[in-house]
Amino acid sequence: MVDLKPWLTVQGLTVRDFALGLDIPLSTAQGWVYQGVVPSIENQGKLTEYVHAHCAHHWVIAVPNGPISEGVCQRCGHQKGFQNSMQEIRWPSNKAPNATDSAVQSKSAA
Ligand SMILES: [Zn+2]
Repeated sequence: MVDLKPWLTVQGLTVRDFALGLDIPLSTAQGWVYQGVVPSIENQGKLTEYVHAHCAHHWVIAVPNGPISEGVCQRCGHQKGFQNSMQEIRWPSNKAPNATDSAVQSKSAA
C-alpha cells in the first residue's frame, strides 16, 4: 500500500481533502495517514483508485527488454507497461532492390 503521508504532501493534499475525496470520515483518514491503520478491503479498493486517479505519477521505467517496458510510479507504486514502439518497426527483408537503387541514384545525381 501507498505510504499516504508523504504521498499527500507531494500531491499538496491535506488529510481533509483526502477524506472528502474518498467520502470517508476524517477520523478514518487520519487513522490511515498518522496511525498506520490498515483500511478494510472495500476501502483499500477505493483508496487505490483514488491514489491512482490523483497521483502525479513519477514513472521509473525499466531498461527496455522486449516490446514492453515495465514502469513503476515512484510515488504510489502503480505499475504500468510502456510500449517501446520503435522496436516494433521491422522493414521487410525482401524489399525490391531496383526501386531502392534508382531512388539512391536519383538522389546522388541531384
Ligand atoms: Zn503514481
